[in-house]
Amino acid sequence: MSALNLSPALPSAFDSADARRTVSFIVLLTLEVSLARIVLTFALGDYGTPHLLSLLATPTVSLIALGALRSGRVRLAATILLWGMWTIVMTSALFTSGTRTIGLVAIPLLIILEGWLFKPRQAMIMAAMSVAGLLGISLSEINGWVYMAPPLPPLLRWVVLSTILAITAYITALSYRVYMGRFQEKQRLAATLALVTERSPIMLAAVDAEGNFIFANQNYARFHGRDAGALVGTPAADTVGTETMLQLRRLLVEGNGHGVHRFRRHDHQTGTERWVEICVQQATNLADGSYDGYYAILRDVTDEIRTADQIRHLAYHDVLTGLPNRALLTDRLRLAVVRAAREDSLVAVCYLDLDGFKLINDTWGHSTGDIVLSRLASRLAECVRATDTVARLGGDEFVVLIGDIHDRNEIPVTIDRLLKAIATPISVDNHAELRVSASIGVAICPVDGEDPDLLLRRADQAMLTAKQSGRNRITLFDTELEKRTQNLQQIVADVEHGLDRGEFQLYYQPKVNMRLGTVVGFEALLRWRHPTDGLRLPGSFLPHIEALPVANRLGQWVLTEAMAQMSQWAAQGMHLPVSVNISGDHLAEAGFTEKLADLFDRHPTIPPERLEIEILETTAMDDVENVARIMRTIATLGARFALDDFGTGYASLTYFRRLPAQTLKVDRSFVRDILDDPEDLAIVKGVTALASSFGRSVIAEGLETIEHGRPLLAIGCDFAQGYGIAHPMPAEAVLGWLARWQAPAIWHDEPPQALRAALALPA
Ligand code: C2E
Ligand code: MG
Ligand code: MG
Repeated sequence: MSALNLSPALPSAFDSADARRTVSFIVLLTLEVSLARIVLTFALGDYGTPHLLSLLATPTVSLIALGALRSGRVRLAATILLWGMWTIVMTSALFTSGTRTIGLVAIPLLIILEGWLFKPRQAMIMAAMSVAGLLGISLSEINGWVYMAPPLPPLLRWVVLSTILAITAYITALSYRVYMGRFQEKQRLAATLALVTERSPIMLAAVDAEGNFIFANQNYARFHGRDAGALVGTPAADTVGTETMLQLRRLLVEGNGHGVHRFRRHDHQTGTERWVEICVQQATNLADGSYDGYYAILRDVTDEIRTADQIRHLAYHDVLTGLPNRALLTDRLRLAVVRAAREDSLVAVCYLDLDGFKLINDTWGHSTGDIVLSRLASRLAECVRATDTVARLGGDEFVVLIGDIHDRNEIPVTIDRLLKAIATPISVDNHAELRVSASIGVAICPVDGEDPDLLLRRADQAMLTAKQSGRNRITLFDTELEKRTQNLQQIVADVEHGLDRGEFQLYYQPKVNMRLGTVVGFEALLRWRHPTDGLRLPGSFLPHIEALPVANRLGQWVLTEAMAQMSQWAAQGMHLPVSVNISGDHLAEAGFTEKLADLFDRHPTIPPERLEIEILETTAMDDVENVARIMRTIATLGARFALDDFGTGYASLTYFRRLPAQTLKVDRSFVRDILDDPEDLAIVKGVTALASSFGRSVIAEGLETIEHGRPLLAIGCDFAQGYGIAHPMPAEAVLGWLARWQAPAIWHDEPPQALRAALALPA
């Protein structure tokens, strides 16, 4: 820490930069006056020897002083000039006659200069020597050694002159002290300020009423690439600029003597642009209220501003892709809607959801998923104009906002571009090229609404429709859809109501082994005995309540009912397994396993393996790892699993192998046409062969007629379920049906020759 002197010594005038100028001025003035005197003397013809000596001595002394000045010795020049002049004045006073008193008038002037240029003590010495010299002159006069000059008697003149000199010396010393006292005060203040701010990063400056620095601390000076000492006395505008100075003055006036202003400045220390905050406080003299300049505290706020910028950016942007987030999107959408109204144009809100993105995450890992999202984000951004917005709402959902549309036909063109950009394969590191598609829902402002939230919601709804109707497509929002959604709330309320009033019922459809001609189990299928609509099939209400809490409540009812029915059948001597359909959301619901375990406990006569849970293949594939984990937990209770509607999703048999499902139910769309379409049959054959190689069994759904059984048997698919065997029936009908049912004889016949040939079966 540098030592700071809080009580600085009185400085000499020669410490000031102006000392040289002052001394030069005095020397030159003396030289000019003495030259003028020479000219005057010769003009008057006064050639007395002592007078002549003094005449020549004055310019000589001035010239010597000038010489010293030239060689840079200011203090020496001043000493030569003042004491030289003093000697000349005193000597000539001794020898001159009439002008003695007049000549001595120069002495007080010399004393003042001596005091101010050097120290008051020097002035005292000069005064004392002058008094002594004058006494000598007066005594010489009295003794008659020199001529006695009139009008005053010598001693009286000595007394008068000495008094004048003493007073001059005293006033000089006093004024010097007063001046220096103030100076010291300022110095002390500066030292205190320097000490206080030394360790802090703030930059402090005090500026006087004229706009010149009274003080600037090291930080301030360093920041501006200057030396702290050298700044004092210089205009503050030199460091902060005239513009800022004007601004500060304005602030002080408007802010009643206080103000804060931020501006950008070049930092001389680091050579970079920095943001600086300047806080000014007017310094008013308390005693007389006069304006006394101001203090300025400067702070480097670059980091603060940057952090604030970053925070603002984070608040409005998605971290992964850097795209605007929902907040910023809503903002932009609001502006776009206003502009569209003003310019009579359209805004398209495109809600985009990637298809099967979960599969990419599950297969390749989340970091690859992230890369895919980032790449897609930049591709989407490239597809639109700079004035349009691409935002990420999270997950695999994006929204593209296209404004300034004057013709509806422009919309499909742009969206097509988006779809193409998404469909272009993405190569990630050394992985294979990944392909994704998206389902896009579009709402148009003002046609579909003018409220940003409403538009987004409608585009989202349209996107869901696009998804449901087969993915990788565009759907425009339509009001019909909206009506259906409004109905949804009604449906949910109805289902709740129906559950409370026991309107639901389970029908059972048998599953058989065609080869052995035996019944192997039943599938429980939900029916709703609706008070006004009659018997409603699950397709008319389940899709609407999918993913809603009421669906899980209904699912739980199905499980409870099926178990109760099995208990009842067991008591009647019927021990066939029953399968129930469980939705993915219900399966993943917290507490599902516990509730199931509880159910098993309540039906001790039913071995858990007798319950089979059917899960849609598409559900299972949405999140293979998670579903597999849940299935494994449930399997420990003993329940079995079947993968329903196999072939409608994307599952390969490899995925199937990762799931602990014992059975695979080939979707009825493949079974329906096996009599006419050898390709479908070949598919079922392939699936059957592979599944049995993994040790899993295959059952064909939707066996419309008993004829469908023959080709299935021929390819080794022995299990079937369908109208050809029996329609789903109420529980009361099951035992009677079981007693009556006989496997059709046709299943034991050899398959027709044509079929054998098509399947390349041995003749
Ligand atoms: P699923 O699980 O694939 O059930 C088989 C569906 O095919 C049943 O329709 C059944 O009546 C029908 N079906 C049976 N044989 C034939 C046939 O030969 N030809 C044709 N065309 N169809 C046949 P249902 O009962 O209308 O059920 C439809 C879907 O609803 C079910 O498909 C299942 O996914 C779902 N579902 C049914 N009950 C429940 C339930 O209790 N809970 C859940 N979560 N879903 C259920
Ligand atoms: Mg099923
Ligand atoms: Mg099925």
